[in-house]
Amino acid sequence: MVGTKRSNWCDRKGRNVYSVWMVLLFLMFVCLLQLLPVHSSFSAGYNADLRVGISIIGDHLELSFGDEYCLFDVVSGEFLPLNAGRYKILPVKSRIEICDLRGENRASVEGPLFLQPVELPFADSSFQLHNALYGLEYRGALEIIPEGKGLLAVNVLDLESYLLSVLPAEMPAFWGNDGGMEALKAQAIAARTFAHFNREARRHSGYHLCDQEHCQVYKGKGAENPCTDRAVRETSGKVLTYGGRIIEAFYHASNGGFTELSQNVWQKSSPYLASVPDPYDDPDNPLGLPGFMRCSPWKVTLSRQILSARLAEKGYNIGEVERIDIVSSFASGRVEEIALQGKSGKTLFLTKEDARVALGLESQLYSISGSTWGAQLCAVSAKSGAEKKENFSDLEGKWVVNGHNNQMKSVLHGSKFFVHGDKEKGSIPRTSSASLVFEGRGRGHGIGMSQYGAYNRSRAGHTCREILSFYYPGAEIVVR
Ligand SMILES: [Zn+2]
Repeated sequence: MVGTKRSNWCDRKGRNVYSVWMVLLFLMFVCLLQLLPVHSSFSAGYNADLRVGISIIGDHLELSFGDEYCLFDVVSGEFLPLNAGRYKILPVKSRIEICDLRGENRASVEGPLFLQPVELPFADSSFQLHNALYGLEYRGALEIIPEGKGLLAVNVLDLESYLLSVLPAEMPAFWGNDGGMEALKAQAIAARTFAHFNREARRHSGYHLCDQEHCQVYKGKGAENPCTDRAVRETSGKVLTYGGRIIEAFYHASNGGFTELSQNVWQKSSPYLASVPDPYDDPDNPLGLPGFMRCSPWKVTLSRQILSARLAEKGYNIGEVERIDIVSSFASGRVEEIALQGKSGKTLFLTKEDARVALGLESQLYSISGSTWGAQLCAVSAKSGAEKKENFSDLEGKWVVNGHNNQMKSVLHGSKFFVHGDKEKGSIPRTSSASLVFEGRGRGHGIGMSQYGAYNRSRAGHTCREILSFYYPGAEIVVR
C-alpha cells in the first residue's frame, strides 16, 4: 500500500476509514456553498470497497469528469476548486500537479488525490481516463497516488459493478444468446469468488486486483454488455466456499479434455480441485454433442536457434539446445518435467508451469516430436543394476533411455550410473530434424473451471450450479 492509512479510502470490509470529521467536513462544505445536494446517506449504504489498479500508458493521467464529481486532496482534507472538465495530472517531485488542457497549472497537492462522486448511487457515476491501457470510462471513484516517478491510478468501486466489466472481458458475452447463459452465470460466480479471495490475499501493493490477465481483465464501463449484466445480476453476491472459506476459483479457456490439480502446475494443492477427464472440453467430442464448441489443438514449430534464444531470454544459458525430452507426465497427460541438453554440456531440467512458460506454449498438455536434433542420442538398455562407467565411456553426458518407450531416465555423469531396463545395449534411431514440433491441447493452466467446457455444459442443459460442482468439487455456493 502506498501512503498511510489515510490514503486508504475504504478498508477491505467496506467501512469508510476516513475519520468522521472528514465526512462532516464534506457535508459542511456542500451546505455552505449550497451548490450540491446533501445526501444524508453519503457515508452509508454503498460498498465501494474494491480497489482495482488501472494500467496507464505513460507516466501521467489524462482525466475528465463531469459535475457529479469533485477532487479531494487526501492529505490536507480539502476539496480542490476545479470544475468539471479535462485535466492532465502529472507527477512532479513527489507531488501531483493538475494542469488544464492549455498546460496551465491549476493545482498542486502532496497527494494522494481522490476523484469522488458527490451523489449516490456511487457506482452509477463515471469518469474518463483517456490514457488507460484497456478502457476509457470507469464507474465509481479514482484514487491517484504518487509512486516512484509516476502515478498509481486506483479505481475504487463496488465489487458487483467491477464484475459487470470483468465478465465480458473474460468470457464472450454473446454466448448468453447462444445457450451459454448458465456458463456466463458460472463465470460470474467464479470471477466474484476470485475477486473476494484476492481482495484478502494482498497480491498487489496499493490495490487489490490489477486490470490484466494476472488477476482478471477489467476494461471499465465501456466493456459492459446486457448478456453479462444479466449473469452478474442473477448471481448477485454468490460465491464459492469450501469449509466455510472463500476458495481460490481459478479458471481458464480450455483444459483440452482433462482437468488438473493445482499442485501439478504450481506448488499449492487445494481440496476443491480434481484431475479428471472432461468430455465437454475434449476436442475429440467423445460424447458426440451437437453444436460442440471445440477448442482446437495447437501446434508450434520451433527451430533450435529460436528455442535457445527463448531460453536465454529467460536466463537459462545452456548454449545451443541439442536435445529436449519429456522426463515425466501426470495422469492427465500434462508434462511434469522436461530436460534440455545444451551444447555447453549443461543439462537443464524444468518442471510444470516453469517449463511451459520457458517454451512459450499455450498449455502444459503437449508432446514433442523431432526431439533428437541430430547425433546426440545414445540409448542404453541392459540388465538393471549398477554398471561401471568405463564400460560405456562413449556415453558420458548422454542420455539413458528405456528401450521400450524411449522415456528418458537420467544423464550419464560421474563414475557410476544405473541402467534401467532388461534389454541389450543399443541405440534408438537418430534424426536430423532442424526443428522441434510441439503439439498440444487446451489453453491455459487447466485448473478449475474451463470456459469452453462450461459453455458446452450450458448448451447441453447443465445449470450453473452443476457446472461449478464439476469444476470445483465439494465447493458450496453461498451469498456473501
Ligand atoms: Zn494482478
